[in-house]
Amino acid sequence: MRSHYCGDINLGHNGETVTLCGWVHRRRDHGGVIFLDLRDREGIAQVVIDPDTEEAFALADKARSEYVLKVTGRVRPRPEGTVNPNMPTGEIEVLGKEVEILNDAQTPPFQLDGYTDVGEDVRLRYRYMDLRRPEMQEKLIMRSKATRMVRNYLEERGFLDIETPVLTRATPEGARDYLVPSRVHQGSFYALPQSPQLFKQLLMVSGFDRYYQIVKCFRDEDLRAERQPEFTQIDIETSFMNEEDVMATTEEMVTRMFNELLSVDLGAFPHMTFAEAMQKYGSDKPDLRIPLELEDIDDLVASVDFKVFNGPANDPKGRVAALKLPQGATKLTRKQIDDYGKYVGNYGAKGLAWVKVNELAKGVEGLQSPILKFLGEDVALNIMARLEAKDGDIIFFGADSASVVNDAMGALRCKLGADLDLYTKAWAPLWVVDFPMFEENGQGGLTALHHPFTAPTCTPEELEANPETALSRAYDMVINGYEVGGGSVRIHKQDMQEAVFRVLNIDEEEQREKFGFLLDALKFGAPPHGGLAFGLDRLVMLLCGTDNIREVIAFPKTQSAACQMTQAPSPVDPQQLHDLNIRIRRDAASATSH
Ligand code: ASP
Repeated sequence: MRSHYCGDINLGHNGETVTLCGWVHRRRDHGGVIFLDLRDREGIAQVVIDPDTEEAFALADKARSEYVLKVTGRVRPRPEGTVNPNMPTGEIEVLGKEVEILNDAQTPPFQLDGYTDVGEDVRLRYRYMDLRRPEMQEKLIMRSKATRMVRNYLEERGFLDIETPVLTRATPEGARDYLVPSRVHQGSFYALPQSPQLFKQLLMVSGFDRYYQIVKCFRDEDLRAERQPEFTQIDIETSFMNEEDVMATTEEMVTRMFNELLSVDLGAFPHMTFAEAMQKYGSDKPDLRIPLELEDIDDLVASVDFKVFNGPANDPKGRVAALKLPQGATKLTRKQIDDYGKYVGNYGAKGLAWVKVNELAKGVEGLQSPILKFLGEDVALNIMARLEAKDGDIIFFGADSASVVNDAMGALRCKLGADLDLYTKAWAPLWVVDFPMFEENGQGGLTALHHPFTAPTCTPEELEANPETALSRAYDMVINGYEVGGGSVRIHKQDMQEAVFRVLNIDEEEQREKFGFLLDALKFGAPPHGGLAFGLDRLVMLLCGTDNIREVIAFPKTQSAACQMTQAPSPVDPQQLHDLNIRIRRDAASATSH
């Protein structure tokens, strides 16, 4: 139907007759002449229709916002003084000769010409309209470019795109499963994959030594801003590559992506150990654009007469850390400081102690803080010395279990960075390495920090003797405080896999029941292998400069895992439940409203 996209025509087409198809973005009448801004996914073109082309004029006169039109006309330069330098097609217009109304449209639920601040629920309900907006089209086009680039990159390097099942068994990645009841095997359920982890490992056993898939994964977890119940991974697995090889290959892929799509040079990614990341940034995904670091002061406060500090300082699982905000005493109001105290409360901190450095030359007299009297002069000054405090600085303190201090002070560091715009660069990628194999699960046991198929750096005997201190061959790619990808070298020997299961308290019977197929496969010549998965949505979020994951997904779910447009999830036909031999408890049935 069309000869060109609206957004593609320019002075080079001067004098040509073109046919455009698109939506009426805006219509204006000017002294008997009709101007139509016609929009398609590539942009907007201005169409002018004179009254002397009577038929076309009459049709254009009927057109309203979001009508679908086909227009044929001649491209000409815009008259002097009407050129619009802000529009890619701003130097030309199309003198419309023929107009066809392909469809009419009701008044849209929200305006599409120009940015209007519509609530997200309305946007999600009429997502097909929201997606017409140029800024949304740009994001989905960026997403498509990113996946195309990934495919090209991986295919050039011999990776094969292989699909894995969606109706499957549970694949543990630390979340709840979405279950699908089986009609044929009543009382049994498939699980939707939390990731293709085990299948990609089995493909390595089969000899497909470089695999990738751009694949949906499903995790039923409490949703945070940057999560979705179904999300997309760029899933990668390789054989005969060690962690350095995997990191180098995938780093190059991401570097190219940013280079090709944003003209950004990410540079070489530094490697940082998990221990260092936690110590300096309180996070295993540190945002290195922010120049603030946590400083341990446990040794300095171990014997102060102040329980809030000496308790955690003497507890092997406790931590007392200080965070210096240079010139913060002069920048922050009392109210802001109180608000940061409330903010760290969200992360479990019971309070936020602080010291303002007014005039260090006056010694402790020059410090101002509600906790000074508890610290005593020497300790206070020692802390100042360790933090190299200067007049005008403020120092915040976190004292609690190490995990609360890390969460709270790590979050405070990021919040201060964002609120005060402390960023020293636009992009800060890194690899975090040397993760612990396990973490405490809060019930006296251990869980795998990544997943139970991650290879440790030690022997099975060492692992079982000291599981708490064992490190894994895992690596995470972090950009600007987001974990964009993570993976590991895997266990490829049965005895090691069984040792890990034992540490996780999965007895032999359960091992066979849940992972028998994997343990069997490891017996038949499994090659050394490893890989990783990127969160495509998060990568695209970064490429698009948004921190809302829903902005880069065509049809996302809300924070309560519902779809505003289709109203999924929804009750089903009683017959369907009957076929599945499932009965809904009455209290659940009344709780299904969105
Ligand atoms: N399956 C892992 C995940 O989804 C990634 C990997 O280890 O390759 O996080």
